[in-house]
Formats: sequence, C-alpha cells, structure tokens
Amino acid sequence: MTGQQRRLAANKSASAGVDHPPMRPLWLCRRCGQPWPCGAAKLALLAEYREVPVSLFLYLAGCLHDAIDDLHRLNPSVTGSAADMFDRFLGWPARHTNAYRVSTTTSASTEEATS
Ligand SMILES: [Zn+2]
Repeated sequence: MTGQQRRLAANKSASAGVDHPPMRPLWLCRRCGQPWPCGAAKLALLAEYREVPVSLFLYLAGCLHDAIDDLHRLNPSVTGSAADMFDRFLGWPARHTNAYRVSTTTSASTEEATS
C-alpha cells in the first residue's frame, strides 16, 4: 500500500475527511473561510469519491439539505437563493465527474436556460 492509498483510505473512513471541512451552521470553510465546499474541499472530495461518484452526490445532497436548514434558521431571507445553493453543492461535481456528464443531459440545458 502506498502512502497515497493509505491517505485516501484514511479519508474514506473519516467520511469526507477533507482538510477543509465545513463550519456549521455558517457553511464556511474552517480552513480558508470560503463558502463550503471551497476549491480545496472540492478537489479533496473528487479524489476521495473518484471511484464512487454516486456516493459523492448522495453526500453532497445531504450537505445541501443541512445547509439550507442551517442557513434558513440563521437568516430566513436567504432562502430565495435555493438555485444558487443547489449549484454550489451539486452543480460542480456534475461538471467535473465524467460518469455524470454522460447521464445528466438536464444539467447542460439548465445552465443554458439560466445563463
Ligand atoms: Zn477551504
């Protein structure tokens, strides 16, 4: 087992144990203060779930659900940006994960419609 494999295995057991974890209920990165997932967290998640993109989507869907709950509790007026929240949590892996680019023709058409 190489050092990298061991590191990936450790990440997996920590469940998205990225070096840039979200700080709830604000959903900002604990490390760099960017809205989570920040760039570093996205890279770590892509690496961690490279073999199981479906699990990445399930994990992020759970995060999105929690984040909407948390942020709504903090400030009910931000719920109008649900589309932004969706893209923040679930839009980016659809653009980065080949397995999903094939099957999600809707993501491309949605982007066209909103831009
Ligand atoms: Zn970060």
